[in-house]
Amino acid sequence: MRTAFDVIVLGLGAMGSASAFQLAKKGRRVLGIDQFSPPHNLGSSHGGTRVIRQAIGEGDEYVPLALRSYELWREIEAATGKSILETTGGLIIAGATTGIPIHGAKGFLEETIRCAKKFGIRHSVLDTNQIKTRFPQFNLIGNERAYYEPMMGFLRPELCIECQLFLAEKHGAEIRRNEKVLELIPSSHEVLIRTSSGQYTAEKVVVSAGSWITQFLEQEFAGSFKVYRQALYWFDIKDSLEPFLPGRFPVFIWVFGRHQDDFIYGFPAIDGFGGGVKVASEQHAFQTNPETVEREVREEEIDSIYQRYVRDRLPGLSNKCVNTTTCLYTSTPDSGFVIDFHPLHSSVLIVSPCSGHGFKHSAAIGEVVADLAITGQSSMNTKEFKIDRLGQ
Ligand SMILES: Cc1cc2nc3c(=O)[nH]c(=O)nc-3n(C[C@H](O)[C@H](O)[C@H](O)COP(=O)(O)OP(=O)(O)OC[C@H]3O[C@@H](n4cnc5c(N)ncnc54)[C@H](O)[C@@H]3O)c2cc1C
Repeated sequence: MRTAFDVIVLGLGAMGSASAFQLAKKGRRVLGIDQFSPPHNLGSSHGGTRVIRQAIGEGDEYVPLALRSYELWREIEAATGKSILETTGGLIIAGATTGIPIHGAKGFLEETIRCAKKFGIRHSVLDTNQIKTRFPQFNLIGNERAYYEPMMGFLRPELCIECQLFLAEKHGAEIRRNEKVLELIPSSHEVLIRTSSGQYTAEKVVVSAGSWITQFLEQEFAGSFKVYRQALYWFDIKDSLEPFLPGRFPVFIWVFGRHQDDFIYGFPAIDGFGGGVKVASEQHAFQTNPETVEREVREEEIDSIYQRYVRDRLPGLSNKCVNTTTCLYTSTPDSGFVIDFHPLHSSVLIVSPCSGHGFKHSAAIGEVVADLAITGQSSMNTKEFKIDRLGQ
C-alpha cells in the first residue's frame, strides 16, 4: 500500500528544517513534525548567531559541506529576500603552548591553517603585533598567533530555520508544529509514526531530533550521544559601540590555555540581545538532558566567565551582562557527526547530533539527507559520518 508521505522529518531545528526544504524542493511528499514551534529556544539552534568558516580545523571531511553550505545559504537568501549570512572576517587566535582540542581537533589553529592551504581557502596568518595593530579590541596576553579568514562570519540561526521551513512549505511540504512524536515503528518497507495528535506512515523517516535523539534509538546506539548544557553571555560595551560592530570587529575563536575550557569565542555586536557582544566558552564536564537541564544562567556563572576570560582579554567590555541564554550540545565521543541509516532499519536516517559545530554545515547536510533518502546515496562523501564508527 502507498504510504501517506515519502519522507517524515522528525524534528525541525537546523538539520530538520534543511532536510525538509531540500526534500520538498526535489519533489518529495514531505511531512515535518516538531514538538515545539521552530525556531524556538529549547534545543541547539538559538542565540542569534553561529560561526561559519571555510577552513574547518575539525577535519578535511567537513570542508565540502561548509563550501556547499555557503552557496546554499546565499540561495536561501535569494529565495526569501532575508539576510541570514554575514561575512565579517574571522580570527582563530592561539598561543604556542595551548594544547586543548576544539571539537575533537588537537592543534586547532595549525589544523585550520593546514586545511586552508590544502583547499586553497583565502587566509592570512598574523603574528602578535599584527593582531594588535589590526584588532586593538583584543588584549593579547602572551605570544599569540592568529589565522584570519575574510569569508568567516556568522549565520542568524533562527532566521535560517524560519526561511527553510517557509521554503519547504512553499515547495509543498506539510509542517506540523507543537506536535510531539511519541513513537517511531519501522518495518521493512515503511515507518509508522505516532504523535500527540495522530499517526502517519512514510517510506523513510529522518530523525533530526537534536538533544532528544536518544529517545528514538535503542540503548546500544543511544549511549554514544551525550548532552551538555552551554551558557551564552552578552556583555555591555564600555564606551563606543563602533569598534565592536560587524566590519570592525571579527567573529573570533580564542584558545589560550591547557585546560579543557581555556577557550572563548564571540561575535560582533548585532541588533537585539541587549546590544552587547556575545561571548561563550564550552563545557563538557557535566552531562544533562533536555527535560531537566537548568535553563537559567546563574549570577556566579556570569561573574566567573567575565573574571576568567573577558575582563583582561576584551577590556572594552564591561561586567554588565545584558543578556544570557542556555543551549544544548549533543556530542559523540569523537565530536564527529552522524549522518547515516540506522544500522537495523534501512527506512530510518539518523541526522543530528553535531557536537557543537554543525550549524554552518546544516544547509548542505539537508541536501545530503535528501539524496540519501531518495536514492540511498550522496555525491558528498559521508563515510566519516557513519554510526558504526562509534563502536557500541
Ligand atoms: C551554544 C551553542 C553554540 C554553537 N555554536 C555553533 C557555531 O558557532 N557554529 C556552528 O556551526 N555550530 C554551532 N553549534 C552547533 C549547532 O548549533 C548544532 O549542531 C545544531 O543547531 C543542531 O541542530 P539540530 O537540528 O541537531 O538540533 P535542534 O535545532 O535542537 O533541533 C531538534 C528539533 O527536534 C525537535 N524534537 C525533538 N524531539 C521531538 C519529538 N519527540 N517530537 C517532535 N519534535 C521533536 C526539537 O523540538 C527540535 O526543534 C552551537 C551549538 C550550541 C548549543
